Amino acid sequence: MANVTKGAQLYEGKAKKVFATSDPELVIVDYKDDATAFNGEKKGTIVGKGVINNKMTNFMFSMLEKEGVPTHLVEELSDRETLVKKVSIVPLEVIIRNVAAGSFSKRMGVEEGKALLCPILEYSYKNDDLGDPFINDYYALALGLCTKEELDTIAKYAFKVNEFMVKFFKGIGVDLIDFKIEFGKTSDGTIILADEISPDTCRFWDSKTHEKLDKDRFRRDMGGVEEAYQEMMKRIGLNK
Ligand code: ADP
Ligand code: UDP
Repeated sequence: MANVTKGAQLYEGKAKKVFATSDPELVIVDYKDDATAFNGEKKGTIVGKGVINNKMTNFMFSMLEKEGVPTHLVEELSDRETLVKKVSIVPLEVIIRNVAAGSFSKRMGVEEGKALLCPILEYSYKNDDLGDPFINDYYALALGLCTKEELDTIAKYAFKVNEFMVKFFKGIGVDLIDFKIEFGKTSDGTIILADEISPDTCRFWDSKTHEKLDKDRFRRDMGGVEEAYQEMMKRIGLNK
């Protein structure tokens, strides 16, 4: 392990814990098997999810770094723990959609699975008490959630992440329907990709059968949740 020691728990979220380290610029994220949906109303466990999400996130983040998207990744410490750069999270859920699904389909009355003519970038205000309301650029700027320059950087990186991931997943027989990412600011003000990229935060459909290989199986009580997460690991080539 890098030359740091694990300190006190700073935060426990729905899917991860965050710990301080002896380096004030670094924290350790610890991925849990806990699963929630509908803003915490539905709770459960997806056995092995923490390990899968940790490893998949780190794999995606190291590839994205090579594509020119800076990330918080420093070093994977164990199956569930990763050392990352400490950031102050920009309170935006940054969502990209390639195919209609989920809340977009409901809101717009567009059938799930309909391909969009171009990718959509949308924002939600990251605030559990308000249920992460849908907002636009003007809300983000008017509420001071970030600056115009930061929002431009976030949008540029988000599309880059999408472009890379669509191609990558296509290559392993998976359609990337939509996903959510988060960005943070380091102590010197640099915007970097933070949090995670996993079946919890992306919709993955098998390209041929359209079988769901993501958290929708948990949200919608479809069964085969663990198997779907494992299948994604297998396709990526990450299963032991
Ligand atoms: P939630 O807070 O929505 O329940 P998690 O259980 O995933 O989500 O908790 C992890 C928390 O850590 C999230 O709030 C996320 O924004 C935050 N986080 C992710 N990466 C970093 C980082 N590099 N530095 C500080 N906080 C981070
Ligand atoms: N998403 C997420 N966390 C959230 C909300 C959404 O990771 O709090 C992801 C979700 O997995 C999907 C994409 O963002 O890949 C778009 O989700 P949508 O807005 O359709 O919401 P949902 O149907 O999940 O409520």
